[in-house]
Amino acid sequence: MINVLTGNKKLLSSFPRDRVGSVSRTPIKSCPGAPKGGCVFSGKACYCLRIGAMYPSVRKHWRAMDSLGFRLWAAVGESIDSQRVTVFRPFSSGGDFLNQRDYNSFCSMVAKRPDVKFYAYTKSLHLDLWSRKPINLVLLQSEGGRYDHLIDYSKLVARVGVGFADGSEDDSVAAAGVSVSLKAH
Ligand code: SF4
Repeated sequence: MINVLTGNKKLLSSFPRDRVGSVSRTPIKSCPGAPKGGCVFSGKACYCLRIGAMYPSVRKHWRAMDSLGFRLWAAVGESIDSQRVTVFRPFSSGGDFLNQRDYNSFCSMVAKRPDVKFYAYTKSLHLDLWSRKPINLVLLQSEGGRYDHLIDYSKLVARVGVGFADGSEDDSVAAAGVSVSLKAH
């Protein structure tokens, strides 16, 4: 069984009464919607990549999750059940949906757990994100990627900057289903 309970401080403070889970993948190589070379904000490289540079345990986690390939979401589902997770956000420390098969597998896992709140930020906007999206998944289209031209502004959006509700310190804002502005991502 993999451990999906997160130590991410923002997530833990955002959901103090929940058991919060997340898994992440290696940034950039697992981010098909990121700009070539990875996201850059205010002249700085991807935040997750910088976290990985500081913490070997994060890099070890990335490798372990990468190695599961398409089996990842089935393994996550088992751990969500056994660890009694109530809120789950994928990719809090890097990565994204790899392709349509990966996203569909994630959605199947989510749909089987209607009592768990799932939310996700994604730049994989080239995928069909909506026709299979389970009702208990809040999905935010993250600006700043190579598929920004595909963003549907009638749906939820996350951006580094201003214009939406401030979700910089509290991720429960995004999970509640509103578009958010962030200081970094
Ligand atoms: S999508 Fe996220 S994890 Fe991937 S390169 Fe961009 S900021 Fe980093």
